[in-house]
Amino acid sequence: MLTTAEAREAILAAMREFPPEATPVDDAHERILRQVVRAERDQPPFDRVMMDGITLAYADLSRGVREFPVQATQAAGDPVLALQSGKCIEIMTGASLPENADCIVPVERIAVKNGIAIIEDGYEAKSGQFIHRRASDHAAGAHLLAPGKRLSPMDIAIIASCGLTEVEVSRRPVVRVISTGNELVPPGAPIEPHQVRLSNGPAIQAMLRERGYTNCDHDHLLDNLDELREGIAAHLAEADVLILSGGVSMGKADFVPEVMAELGVDVVFHKVSQRPGKPMWFGIGPDQKAVFALPGNPVSALVCCRQYVIPALEAASAATPQPPEFAVLAGDVTFEPDLTCFQPVRLVSSAAGQVLAMPVKTNTSGDFTALSATDGYVELAREQSHFPAGTPVFLHRWRTG
Ligand code: AMP
Ligand code: MG
Repeated sequence: MLTTAEAREAILAAMREFPPEATPVDDAHERILRQVVRAERDQPPFDRVMMDGITLAYADLSRGVREFPVQATQAAGDPVLALQSGKCIEIMTGASLPENADCIVPVERIAVKNGIAIIEDGYEAKSGQFIHRRASDHAAGAHLLAPGKRLSPMDIAIIASCGLTEVEVSRRPVVRVISTGNELVPPGAPIEPHQVRLSNGPAIQAMLRERGYTNCDHDHLLDNLDELREGIAAHLAEADVLILSGGVSMGKADFVPEVMAELGVDVVFHKVSQRPGKPMWFGIGPDQKAVFALPGNPVSALVCCRQYVIPALEAASAATPQPPEFAVLAGDVTFEPDLTCFQPVRLVSSAAGQVLAMPVKTNTSGDFTALSATDGYVELAREQSHFPAGTPVFLHRWRTG
């Protein structure tokens, strides 16, 4: 049986990279950048005025002049004027500094009477103050964004400021989420006492969509060899990635591994030394399509999706890997040795600035309602079976950056 690290490596080694595509900037948020973005212009592109007020020549002020005839008004977006000696120009925030001017006096520090601006007694203006100098943020051609970045709203601002209408990002994979099980009934349909509501499919779709993998339709297949064979074959023909839940344990209705073999999906591994999620199955189909078959138990399905499927999609999207995150256990955890434990936790921050992980018990790996109160889970190494409060541990948040 593979360790969690071996399973992760085997998946990453088998994933085929999704190709880049040009996309309009308004569809680029949350997607993975595949190009370098360079500055179109200097930033600021001109000496930018940072205050409403008047602008004048500091040399005039140093000569003791305190009253300046108002030559003109220049607002943001107005063409640049040339200041005449001994005068001032009324200036607005965002305007380009007039020629010959090098000093701003804020509007609160002046009074204007009969076209003359008078500077408040005792106010000392400084040369260059309130002027955001051209190229002081960065010069034209500067390297602003690198490939591998997941695009945030701030990155969208940078891309727009570079004058781009399109950027190269990773193509969104076509993902199919497939719930297997005769007992499952989707929300909205009548249900019998012996049946179970289908909840893994919508939860896995939500986890994917949250990270920008929005092309992820869902299907429900029964535990029946013919139906599984036909259904999975159809999805395999259309999708880049399949994510199944259920049907990979040792029961008589767990047909998924058998069907995969018939469809030419080669098993990479079946079972990982972890709890929850031990029965997890992973294989590679024709055209290197990845097939994740997660255990049906809802806690196992969600942990395995977060632990294996999400990092695999990120890697195939050429995303820059995130550094590991750590937290300090806030309660003792004991479990059976020789399986890595994924322990759901709620996070709180301590007054000392530490991230504390409070273990949240789930009743069984079917008790997914307890997960609603958690922020993620911690990974407790299989070599040890007792982890006292205070131990630093790997943290995996449900939501990642
Ligand atoms: P399995 O892995 O198919 O043996 O399923 C294990 C348990 O998880 C069973 O009790 C199933 O009813 C439950 N289960 C499987 N798939 C789902 C699903 N899509 N939504 C909710 N529960 C499920
Ligand atoms: Mg089942």
